[in-house]
Amino acid sequence: MARLDSETLDLLLTTLRDYAAKELTPDVLLGLDQRDEFPAQILKDLYDPERIGIHLLSIPEEHGGLGGGAYDIYRISEVMAGIDLGIATGVLATFLGTDPLNVGGTPEQKALWLGRLAREGLLMAYGATEPQAGSDLGALATQAVPVQENGQLTAYRISGRKQWISNGGVADLYTILANAPGGPSWFIVEKGAPGFSHGKPEDKHGIRSSNTAALFLENVLVPADRLVGGIEGKGLTQAQAVFGYTRLMVAAFGLGAGWAALQRAIRYSQQRVQGGAPLSQKQGYTHKLLVPNACRLEAARAYVEWTADRLDGGEPDLATEGAVAKYLASEAGNRAAEDAIQALGGYGYTREYQVEKIKRDVRITTIYEGTSEILEWTIARDRWQLHLKTRGTYYLDWAARLEPQQAASPASGIPAAVLALRALGALLERCRLDRLTRNQHVLFRLGELIAYAETAAIFSERVKSHPTRAIPLDQTTLQAMARVHAREAAMRVAADGLRWAVGAGQTDPDLARTLHFEAVAKAQAGLVEDMDQIARELSRAFPAE
Ligand SMILES: Cc1cc2nc3c(=O)[nH]c(=O)nc-3n(C[C@H](O)[C@H](O)[C@H](O)COP(=O)(O)OP(=O)(O)OC[C@H]3O[C@@H](n4cnc5c(N)ncnc54)[C@H](O)[C@@H]3O)c2cc1C
Repeated sequence: MARLDSETLDLLLTTLRDYAAKELTPDVLLGLDQRDEFPAQILKDLYDPERIGIHLLSIPEEHGGLGGGAYDIYRISEVMAGIDLGIATGVLATFLGTDPLNVGGTPEQKALWLGRLAREGLLMAYGATEPQAGSDLGALATQAVPVQENGQLTAYRISGRKQWISNGGVADLYTILANAPGGPSWFIVEKGAPGFSHGKPEDKHGIRSSNTAALFLENVLVPADRLVGGIEGKGLTQAQAVFGYTRLMVAAFGLGAGWAALQRAIRYSQQRVQGGAPLSQKQGYTHKLLVPNACRLEAARAYVEWTADRLDGGEPDLATEGAVAKYLASEAGNRAAEDAIQALGGYGYTREYQVEKIKRDVRITTIYEGTSEILEWTIARDRWQLHLKTRGTYYLDWAARLEPQQAASPASGIPAAVLALRALGALLERCRLDRLTRNQHVLFRLGELIAYAETAAIFSERVKSHPTRAIPLDQTTLQAMARVHAREAAMRVAADGLRWAVGAGQTDPDLARTLHFEAVAKAQAGLVEDMDQIARELSRAFPAE
């Protein structure tokens, strides 16, 4: 497997945490947020190999990097996001910027640019989005016009505008997506190239310690050997090929920021006495504001780790899995931060307690690297194809593979996950028969239900065999969380599936039965007891300081 040994990864994580404890105190981070300031020196420190050398993680060893894998990047990204999502975004931009090179660069390009990046600790930016081309990159308007000398292609002249580019105003090196005659292609452009400039930093809702700026290219002359991969028209495929990795990274941001907020709420709930007892003992509080968030975040984590294992094992093309991971983790992180404000009451609404900042910061994770809606569409479209290709058996087969484990692990989330998968298979088939996915809303809702059902199956299955190293919760608690999540997934698929199918005019008079509604309702037995146990364990794992 392409990944660091666990001692090296642990050392990196510890070094990063120690650096943050010393240099990135709450006062420093709140100050950067308030002043809307990009911390150039902090990024330099993070990139300094003598201190951390974080940029080396995504660079292969032969080019002077550490050659980390998807799992390593996820673990580091989660910790960074738990510290400050703005600073983490500055690092993400470099990882994103190198990705087209990593997947599509020629050996010479990799040796030159990745080598320089490793040695010089360059800041990078990834320039895909344009004012009119956001989710729809096909609408790209930036042009790369070939320049010929004596009949030989020597360079391109690039003209256009890029929007919302992280590190846009501070990077040393940029990868820019532009339309060449052969189609969209990535180009490497250096800071200071004549005709290349950037706008002022955007005044943003959150991640205010990251720099986001528009880029302006006016006839920028770029030598031909800076066309990534040396062949025009590969740009969108190269962008697509890195989604497995990059979306996993943003998924990890959702986990890191979500847990950072949730931990504050869990600790606070043990100190704050209202109605004669700490809030941590009030079910109406814990079971609404704490427990469901912990379960969703851990379900997303299990899926992130499962996808990372597969990527590191060499499986290509896990863009759909990356989409599921990012969708659920970023939505879970966003929700956890929102609930953390509520959990801290009036204190949560002030800057000092930081959950307000985390909430503004984590909001970006449901927007960049694919909005949640685009991910719902991606997930639904890809799995719909599988449903058709397998003649409706994709999720039924998955349920059948899990089923034998039900008897062995009746106390796991597997029975409810099996119900979720079965209901999903039946729902997709009903949608096919009644052609319900003509309605974009139905298709997008299927994307959400698929994400729930798949994470339920993966979380329930992995919790025993692959316990996570990332969070201090014991296996019994994680099992209870898997049961809670699987019950929720089954109920969502059955209830929301019924709602949207009926709403869109489905024709099965007995659809509730087809979706196993009664069994799904029965599977909710024990839910509150599980939540009681999880609430107690959260207080144990994250005691008041
Ligand atoms: C702080 C920040 C940093 C960023 N960093 C970078 C970066 O480094 N590099 C880079 O290239 N880009 C970056 N982006 C851009 C980001 O990836 C885009 O903002 C994102 O892809 C959405 O594009 P858009 O803003 O044009 O929104 P739009 O695509 O216009 O979407 C607007 C809304 O419509 C929905 N929508 C879009 N299409 C459809 C459809 N077909 N059907 C239904 N609903 C739809 C979306 O989900 C969204 O809710 C950054 C953005 C921000 C805010």
